[in-house]
Amino acid sequence: MEGLQGWDARGRWDTIHLAGIRDVADRTIFDKIIAREIPATIVKEDDKILAFKDINPVAPAHILVIPKDRDGLTRLRRATAEHIEILGRLMLAASEIAKDESLGFGDGARIVVNDGKVAGQEVFHLHVHVMGGRAFTWPPG
Ligand code: AMP
Repeated sequence: MEGLQGWDARGRWDTIHLAGIRDVADRTIFDKIIAREIPATIVKEDDKILAFKDINPVAPAHILVIPKDRDGLTRLRRATAEHIEILGRLMLAASEIAKDESLGFGDGARIVVNDGKVAGQEVFHLHVHVMGGRAFTWPPG
């Protein structure tokens, strides 16, 4: 199984039609949140996405938006044309959350996807960070 996962991570299947969306990677803590096996403060949910407060916020408002079905999206670079709808749903949800003053957001937000360990990704289930309630600097660290 490990060997197969290595092949998958290197995009071995990408030349085969639709095979790139196979998902044999390990489940993550976010699957437990989706299944309500561990608690989270859920702020938004529909049939496709779930949004909840980050357990270790780096801003006064810090929400994670995830697809309920990971569908191969361990990280952003696994995205294919088949994911266009869910990617749009994630961004629309991020936009709506970033406007929600009751969550601590003001006039502007930092919206981030960490793609891979080198970018600081720790949980390999695609997620969009929506952060606000303070000013942000550029470039990020
Ligand atoms: P990343 O580093 O981009 O993979 O972001 C993962 C994020 O998930 C981090 O900001 C963590 O604080 C957050 N996180 C990890 N476990 C939980 C949890 N059980 N509930 C809420 N957020 C979590």
